Amino acid sequence: MFTIRVGKRKIKLLNWIIFILVLFFIIYLIGSVFFMIPVFTKSYNYKLVKENYEINNKVFFKNLWFTCKTTEEYKIKAENNFIYDALEKDLIKDGFKKRKQKLIRVNKSLGTCKNDRDLYKKNHSDNYVLFKLNGEKEKKVIYGNDYNDEYVTAKISDKVIKNVNIISNVNKNKIGKYLVTYTMNISKDYTQRLYRIVNVKDEEKPVIKIEGEKNLFLNYSEAYKEPGYTAVDNYDGNITNNVEVKNTVNSKKTGTYKITYKVKDSSNNVAIEQRIVTVKEQNKTVNKEEPKIQVKDGITYVNGVLIVNKTYSLPKNYNPKVNKTALKALKNMQADAKALGLDLKLVSGYRSYETQKKLYENYVLKDGVEKANTYSAKPGNSEHQTGLAFDIGKVDSSFANTDEAKWIEKNAHLYGFIVRYPKDKIDVTGYIYEPWHVRYLGVDLATKVWESNLTLEEYLGLK
Ligand SMILES: [Zn+2]
Repeated sequence: MFTIRVGKRKIKLLNWIIFILVLFFIIYLIGSVFFMIPVFTKSYNYKLVKENYEINNKVFFKNLWFTCKTTEEYKIKAENNFIYDALEKDLIKDGFKKRKQKLIRVNKSLGTCKNDRDLYKKNHSDNYVLFKLNGEKEKKVIYGNDYNDEYVTAKISDKVIKNVNIISNVNKNKIGKYLVTYTMNISKDYTQRLYRIVNVKDEEKPVIKIEGEKNLFLNYSEAYKEPGYTAVDNYDGNITNNVEVKNTVNSKKTGTYKITYKVKDSSNNVAIEQRIVTVKEQNKTVNKEEPKIQVKDGITYVNGVLIVNKTYSLPKNYNPKVNKTALKALKNMQADAKALGLDLKLVSGYRSYETQKKLYENYVLKDGVEKANTYSAKPGNSEHQTGLAFDIGKVDSSFANTDEAKWIEKNAHLYGFIVRYPKDKIDVTGYIYEPWHVRYLGVDLATKVWESNLTLEEYLGLK
């Protein structure tokens, strides 16, 4: 059969070798007929869907001689990296190896692949295994509060499983995200896991404490000195250094200013506090000496100026009628205003004691004594009885916003008048803002009072 022409012995040995190989091949053929299950490869696709992750798995069943070899390929999809990383780590613990984007595990078992396949299908079936989280899959815990685990529902073939293993690293005293892992063993090489994220959060705002007055008053041009503040947070502790202060105070300008204190804690909870700073009007008190008060025939003169207010009244029989100089000044003022298109209509001028008495009594009937006193004088206490005071434009608070009122405010002194009851001076004059009520003082004095920004009482040193 072989015609290789070499030494005789060597040909004999070769024949033996061929004979043995042929014999083994025959034994292999006989063996395969009697002992080997036909070689096959079958695959099974399976998807495990859990609350916050999903595993796409493909498993190959391959038999070789009497051994069944299964190759599992897992592809993980998770709701977030937190779960993904944990799941991947746990599967590697179960014997999986990472290859590209897949996790692969090879198992060998004795027996037929058919049995392994049936067992695999059974173990992985949703009807067979019930494993679900109770409660939320991401649970918020307010910092400092206890975490109560809501556990899981775990059943294998309708039988409740009690030995689910729980691993948790939740620390209620430290804000952050934690993972709780629930593990249930279904078979020797199949484990299911559930993950719950526990988020320990601080939702409490820091507390800013403002030292000193919350409503602070500054004299004109007096520098603002910060009285101080502190900020304490339930989680971060003292965060005073993080307070942002916004200060717009201009002490060279009369007005109301806000100082804002704002602080954020490490969880972005914001606290805001405010201080109101009022820069008072420039104090131009002219008369620093004691005012000279004279009373003549029951009429009070302060530094020579006739005064009628809630303190100083006029006698019942004082009946001078309208002051002619004042009336002339008023007419001049009205004419000039009219040229500018402004109507300074005279509403009320001289009023006798009797007229004021009737007027006041009507107001009391209408509004009660207390309210009536803020806008009307008692008989004897009305400036209108002097013949030097006029109500012009409209006797109504709405008059304040008119062009007429604004013009009076800026120009009345040029004609010898002052707005007798200025804005925000009720504590001095006893009257609400009356932009319509002017008092004749003469150009000189009216101008001085106007420039001082003071009420007549303050200017004369009465208050
Ligand atoms: Zn009046």
